[in-house]
Amino acid sequence: MNRGSPDICDLAPAYVRAIAPYQPGKPVSELQRELGLSDIVKLASNENPLGASPLALAAMRGALEEVARYPDGNGFELKAALARRHGVRAEQIVLGNGSNDVLELAARVFLRPGAGAVYSRHAFAVYPLVTQAMGATGVETPARDFGHDLDAMLRAVTPETRIVFIANPNNPTGTLLSPGEIAAFLRAVPREVLVVLDEAYYEYLPPERRGNSIAWLEEFPNLAITRTFSKAYGLAGLRVGYALASGNIADLMNRVRQPFNVNSVAQAGAAAALADQDFVQRSQDLNAQGMARITAGFGKLGVEFIPSFGNFVSFKVGNAPRVYRGLLELGVIVRPIASYGMPEHLRVSIGTFEENERFLEALERVLRELHRAGSETCPESGER
Ligand SMILES: *Cc1c(COP(=O)(O)O)cnc(C)c1O
Repeated sequence: MNRGSPDICDLAPAYVRAIAPYQPGKPVSELQRELGLSDIVKLASNENPLGASPLALAAMRGALEEVARYPDGNGFELKAALARRHGVRAEQIVLGNGSNDVLELAARVFLRPGAGAVYSRHAFAVYPLVTQAMGATGVETPARDFGHDLDAMLRAVTPETRIVFIANPNNPTGTLLSPGEIAAFLRAVPREVLVVLDEAYYEYLPPERRGNSIAWLEEFPNLAITRTFSKAYGLAGLRVGYALASGNIADLMNRVRQPFNVNSVAQAGAAAALADQDFVQRSQDLNAQGMARITAGFGKLGVEFIPSFGNFVSFKVGNAPRVYRGLLELGVIVRPIASYGMPEHLRVSIGTFEENERFLEALERVLRELHRAGSETCPESGER
């Protein structure tokens, strides 16, 4: 090696080298390999336990015949379906390879070194990731009861701020802001700041909790709303999400995306899924029942939890790493959320009836064993 010449990796921007990788939920296959278990329940990634709509599956099978062709780079059919459903113009839509993609497109358009983005503590991990990838400055505001403190977020906005990220409901806390709170925020925030309202779990909200956020697009040209097919539509593996914004903002975001960022099978599957609102309703019903069952189970076990409006709920166990490991050994995968600043909590996704029972039984067993171990031995110092 040429002495004195720097390693190419050292020449990557410091802000890229400092990125802490996103930590996904543990895949079933990995736990199978590690522990040799076969009967595994994954409740770690807020996936839809009903699977996907049969109509979407059929559409995707049909689309397979055409995979030798490039997709429609402008997503005409899917945008037309979304435009009809939401009452917006197709020019206001940005399609993405998951809504993660459109979150990143917003960052690419508006962030750069010296610019700032504001997000809340315990908010979705992708906001700091896309901010840091652009070399921009992330400003994390303190949470209020685990949710967004919009007053603090407004105070954190400076002349350098270009984006404020709001997750509603938020993941992993499940907290929800009311339409009135968000509208007041939108009225107060400077028009030169893009507000990204991430509504990945919108479809799970009971009707009386849903604001008509899309109507705000008319009033607030600095608003972008993101939605996804990954959750209530049951297409997480397909990777389709979208943003709705003013035509001008959507245009900028579309300029920086890959020309074919949503593949042809995904476009067909998403359009068919959108047409199957019965499936979405069933997903919402199953989720509401499962949420009631799991939170009642927490109550019985004396486990504290954060009331959630998503398809998941975070609960407090104190020694989260040990409870996580204990559940894994019983074949139940949940999500540790220490990287969200919540080291004493775990997050569980709502599953099918059977999966929820299996989780609650496993949790009871793990907590009982921990309790017994704790009362038989002296408290281990340094471990909490
Ligand atoms: C799951 C989730 C998303 C969706 O991600 P996709 O890339 O669309 O799969 C977006 N925002 C939040 C807060 C989420 O929890």
